[in-house]
Order: sequence, then structure tokens, then C-alpha cells
Amino acid sequence: MSTPQTIGQRDTLVPVSALNEFVYCPRRFYYQHYHDEMGTPYELVDGRSKHEKQSQRGGWITERYFRAAELSLHGKIDLIESDGDLLTPVERKRAESGQYFPSDEIQLAGYCMLLESAIEEPVNVGYIYLYKTDERYAIQITESHRETVRKIIDKIQSLSVDSIPPLTDNPKKCEACSAREYCMPAETARLEPEKARGTGWEGQI
Ligand code: SF4
Repeated sequence: MSTPQTIGQRDTLVPVSALNEFVYCPRRFYYQHYHDEMGTPYELVDGRSKHEKQSQRGGWITERYFRAAELSLHGKIDLIESDGDLLTPVERKRAESGQYFPSDEIQLAGYCMLLESAIEEPVNVGYIYLYKTDERYAIQITESHRETVRKIIDKIQSLSVDSIPPLTDNPKKCEACSAREYCMPAETARLEPEKARGTGWEGQI
């Protein structure tokens, strides 16, 4: 019998956006990954081009792709604020609720880690910009953020096609979940109540 395929075998490096998806709901990430809903590949750009515009003081660098094998991480940073020597990733969110979430902070931490790996300098602050309120928040990236990023990467890489994560502990998340047609939380809780045990769906039906 063949060994079950793991995320790590399909993608050596974990995309930063997956950190956010996994924090939102590991089961959603599972369905998105195995049902190939992960979106189009990023354009490959050399991440070590930090100094190419060094003479330019202030401004923006857009759409840079980074890979960091030592972190098992890759991804595209849409926007980097450049203030002389200081580079700061900016993560922009639609945020209809007018607020950002812990999963957004973890995603931003992933981008900071990718950037610092490429430029070989610490990147300890990133920004979250909310379109809805036109506000920008400076987020201090702590060791706790970094540790969380590393743990999620480990979990994602050890995920296998035959180990579906449990239903979410917060059924409200399911209302806007794009994986709901695969996941079928209500149907699962009704027909296989043992699979809803200990989750937010227990007792919902
Ligand atoms: S429908 Fe709910 S439990 Fe299922 S993947 Fe989405 S958020 Fe998770």
C-alpha cells in the first residue's frame, strides 16, 4: 500500500497565504488544498533585489515574490513600504467588519520573516491596511508570532489527504466559507454526530 500523500510532498514550501487560511479553519485549508482552489501561481521574482532601488529614498515596491527554503515558506508580498534603508511589508485587507484578525497578524508575520530572510536584516514591524476604514495599523512582530508561524508550517506540512481536520469550533465562520460545499458541516453533524463531537457544531443540529 502506498504512503498517503502529504502537503509537504506536493509543495515543498508553504505559501504565506495558507497560514491565514489554516488559522481561519484547518479544515477549510484542507479542502482548498486538495480540491485545487488555491488560486493561480505567483510570478517568480528574485526576492534578493532589495538593494536594487536603494538610491531611491521613500516609495513603494509592489508585487515581489520571495522564497525561503530554511523557513519552508514562500509567497508574494503585494506592497512593501521603502523608507531609505527600512523595508516594511503592508498587508491590505478588505475587512468588511472594519477590523483585522489574529490570522491577519500571522500572515503579516510570515511576510516579515520572508522579507528578512531575503534581505538578511531584521524586519520586526509590518502594517495592516484596512480598505473599509482607510486605517493602517503598525504591528510589532514578536517571537510569539514567529513561533506560531513555525508551528502552523509544521502542521500544514504534516497534513495528509486521509486526515481531514475537524469542523471549526466557531460555526459562524462557516457562513462565509468557500469550502462549505465540500465540508457540509450541518449535514456532517446531523448524519455523523461523532465527527461533530468537541467542535462548535456539536449541539447545533
Ligand atoms: S464550512 Fe466551517 S468547518 Fe467547514 S471548512 Fe468551512 S469554516 Fe471550516
